[in-house]
Amino acid sequence: MEETYCFAGNPLDRVSERRDDQAWVAGLLEDAETRVLALRDLKPFIRGGTSPALDWQPVALWRERIAAGATLILLGLGDGRAHFAIDASGADVAPDIDIEMVDVRALAPAIATGEAAVLAEARALIDWHERHRFCAHCGSPTRVGSAGWVRRCPDCRASHFPRTDPVVIMLAVRGDHALLGRNRRRVGARFSCLAGFVEPGETPEEAVRREVREEAGIRCGRVRYLASQPWPFPSSLMMGFLAEALTEDITVDPEELAEARWFPRAQLREMVARAATGPDDPTEVSVPPPLAIAHQICRRWANGLDDI
Ligand SMILES: [Zn+2]
Repeated sequence: MEETYCFAGNPLDRVSERRDDQAWVAGLLEDAETRVLALRDLKPFIRGGTSPALDWQPVALWRERIAAGATLILLGLGDGRAHFAIDASGADVAPDIDIEMVDVRALAPAIATGEAAVLAEARALIDWHERHRFCAHCGSPTRVGSAGWVRRCPDCRASHFPRTDPVVIMLAVRGDHALLGRNRRRVGARFSCLAGFVEPGETPEEAVRREVREEAGIRCGRVRYLASQPWPFPSSLMMGFLAEALTEDITVDPEELAEARWFPRAQLREMVARAATGPDDPTEVSVPPPLAIAHQICRRWANGLDDI
């Protein structure tokens, strides 16, 4: 049974086959039903209060900014209407008084699952546009096409598409123990799954074995895919695995990790339960909160998932 985690489960129909139909897209921007989510400096406009929600505004409020060439992306269709994201960075329009902007990572666990997934789509795309204004091939300024899903170079005719960077994140297990690492750059006693980018010419399973060997000196055999999670910081796809460790002696790569340790299953179960209920006590060993797929991988193994 496939599990879905925060930032997964996007409810919108992405209508990728219609993005190049300029007349149709222009019609959506004239439609009073169409809704726009604005992000400023990659933070969404939200409606605050006890249960925050994304602030989907009528497209009419954004006409001027759209006409001025703000980055605009057709996210998809849902609830019978089109949903766009717009980059409102630098906009001099002040948000209404009941609208707040908050960091996506802090907001995501507090809003509906589907909304978090749409927000991941919007954030990743707006950030990609911001960082890809020039052609990687010839250096000319590029233009947005396909309702925000491509940048085209008018000089060399190259098309550049939004990127997703695959990351493997894994729990290496040996009998009743699992391997967790503590990051050099993080203070406190937070341990997590090892992780790393998939490299060119490599399968995810090969990346799992390479990363565990490089970071902790442990060799792995069988590798089992569990689940994945879009992670829009800025554009990763986290792919979660269990790996069968064949060796036990740890040698950490000091560039990557301050420490790596084998944790007994019962202790990991307690760490998962604690992380699910509240903030870290910095003096106690801990695992990431449920927002992170690392938490979910630890939870599944700690609660009895064994087949690799
Ligand atoms: Zn070019």
